[in-house]
Amino acid sequence: MPENDKEPAGILTPELLREIKRVHLLAQEAGFFLNDRKLLRCHSCGLQEDVVVTGQLITYKSGEAITDSGLRFEKGAGGTYVCPVCGSTVREK
Ligand SMILES: [Zn+2]
Repeated sequence: MPENDKEPAGILTPELLREIKRVHLLAQEAGFFLNDRKLLRCHSCGLQEDVVVTGQLITYKSGEAITDSGLRFEKGAGGTYVCPVCGSTVREK
């Protein structure tokens, strides 16, 4: 499929679309970042997201060692996220 072609090709049957959705959920549960949004950064406390070479999402404090804190931003209202450290509202950067 051409990269800028947004229409699903005829080979994407309903069964295949369900399977893609299932695999997407499994990958998300396994901690992989799926590029379905931008990475987050809290401007109040410096917690930020990054993706390691294996594709997994991590968070760490800006200026500190890049090791996964294990914390994750939670979805808030209106397309925002909530910082798990300080509770600030965060938008995609
Ligand atoms: Zn914060």
